[in-house]
Amino acid sequence: MTNPELKRQALALLKKFYGYDSFRPGQLEVIEAVCTGRDAVVTMPTGGGKSICYQMPALLSEGCVVVVSPLIALMQDQVQALIANGIPAVAINSNRSEIDNRADIDAAVAGRIKMVYLSPERLLADIGSWLTRLNISLFAIDEAHCISQWGHDFRPVYTQLSILKSSFPNTPVMALTATADRVTRDDIARQLNLRDPLRWLGSFNRPNLSLKVITGATSRQKIQTVQNLIRRYPNDSGIVYTLSRKNAETANEQLTRLGIRSTVYHAGLSASQRQKAQSLFTNGQVQVVCATIAFGMGIDKSNIRWVVHFNLPANIESYYQEIGRAGRDGLPAETILFYSYQDVITRRGFIENSESPQQQIFSEKLNQMQRYAEAQVCRRRILMNYFGEEMSDDCHNCDICHNPPERFDGTILAQKAISAALRTEQHVGLFTLVDILRGSTRAEIRLHGYDHIKTYGAGRDLPTADWNYYVQQMVQLGVFAPDIEHNNVLLVTPLGMRIVRGQEPLLLTRFVPRERAPRKPEPTALPTPESPSARRLFEYLKGTRMRLAAQFGIAPYMVLSDKSLQDLAIKRPKTFDELLDVHGIGEYKAHQYGEIFMAAIEDFDDFQNC
Ligand code: ADP
Ligand code: ZN
Repeated sequence: MTNPELKRQALALLKKFYGYDSFRPGQLEVIEAVCTGRDAVVTMPTGGGKSICYQMPALLSEGCVVVVSPLIALMQDQVQALIANGIPAVAINSNRSEIDNRADIDAAVAGRIKMVYLSPERLLADIGSWLTRLNISLFAIDEAHCISQWGHDFRPVYTQLSILKSSFPNTPVMALTATADRVTRDDIARQLNLRDPLRWLGSFNRPNLSLKVITGATSRQKIQTVQNLIRRYPNDSGIVYTLSRKNAETANEQLTRLGIRSTVYHAGLSASQRQKAQSLFTNGQVQVVCATIAFGMGIDKSNIRWVVHFNLPANIESYYQEIGRAGRDGLPAETILFYSYQDVITRRGFIENSESPQQQIFSEKLNQMQRYAEAQVCRRRILMNYFGEEMSDDCHNCDICHNPPERFDGTILAQKAISAALRTEQHVGLFTLVDILRGSTRAEIRLHGYDHIKTYGAGRDLPTADWNYYVQQMVQLGVFAPDIEHNNVLLVTPLGMRIVRGQEPLLLTRFVPRERAPRKPEPTALPTPESPSARRLFEYLKGTRMRLAAQFGIAPYMVLSDKSLQDLAIKRPKTFDELLDVHGIGEYKAHQYGEIFMAAIEDFDDFQNC
């Protein structure tokens, strides 16, 4: 804070209206920025104190603050809380009668209101009318990640909010969000046309949450895990998240049968049933809620000691938000994620059937979630790196840290990979980087002159599969940050720069090739596309294709046509030459994707056998 007078005033108002003695990290910086007319993008975890960032400017200025929020249901609470603190506030939205709305609008136009909450629809509808008659000091856009397709809660209406900057060019805009990866954050600023905004990124680290992933558990084991947690925390509560309403119902029935006070919460219930479940839980009358993703918005219960995911969440943002509901009081809390490959298949099916324009993005986010679950490196490092927060040490509070796999000094490997990435001017993704390291002669490498860079072929001594694994690990450890807006090209992070300069070592987990599953006896007749196994494999390979398409930033059919996939599912090639025998696979495609499809076929067989 550079302006002592503003700071003094702000502190006095904080005390007067909220009863607090000091600001939380970031609050004052953000407040000062908008008070001097600057835009801001504020990323703080839930509970971090975002509201004061945009409420204080109203108190510090003559005018009022207009808050845009999609959560109409929560608006009234916020308004009541403000009024209870002596700050005149209104919420104009479709949940209220037009008569009430009108009266509040009149009060705002008369200058009697400090905080005006609006839904985005209402803002867009009214922007040319009464809003022009307000003296607006600031526009605050809450849940700003809704503007971005890269976010996990995209709302098309949000994309029209750039109109704020064109209609009110001199009024600062503050965008706020609790869940945003780096891409989403940049997208927010760009789409809103913010001018050199102050970017505040609060820490998302919640060291008190332990992180654990259990692979391949049966539903019995899942229920037993909950029983154990209840035994360990008899007076506290927890949440079970499931993939579907049906799973939530089943889990709830099983727990209830065991005498556990449990209830269920999902979008299939009526509003009053949901309200009831929520209040039973908040009041402590039930100990467990079995819920789908819908549960938890606005839940501020401090003694949630554990969160268990019975299934793989759809993306890392949701996962982190859901486990983040535990341990709000700062005391240790446990989180467990049950992972099975079947969940990936189910979720991939959801995505493929959704016909959403965001299919590719959802698919990539699911891949990231899957890689997290399968990772062999400190889980918190993966999460923090995902949110763009550097963490270069292990956390000592996750299952991997507690039971670390064998490590080796991977500094030299990392230096080779980083320097190769830098020499391509950070223009290549994982597969091409590995091809460069391996000295591949495929046309694309030569086309870009990558065969002339110094590190070309510097990693010939390791097979491709090993390199893929190690570079993936380097991404998870925060050496590289994939730029998902640009075909996942690998950008070198500050940690990566320190490693390549020899200022910091890097430990890696050794690659252990997957044990070959015993082959099923060869079928006597050649499978046809109609044979059930080829059919299933075909469906499975579609997932692989989707992933590659996202990776390369092209349409799935450009990777391989359905016909090629079918042929692949029938012929099941195991060598390069066999690959070339598949319909529509030439040398280029064989080089580009062959290894991945062959590995996918093996994965599929392993999965069928387990
Ligand atoms: P967010 O919107 O980021 O989820 P809130 O603005 O609701 O978080 O703040 C969470 C809680 O922290 C609220 O109870 C709020 O009053 C409190 N809080 C915010 N700022 C401060 C502060 N400077 N000192 C003490 N408590 C604060
Ligand atoms: Zn860890």
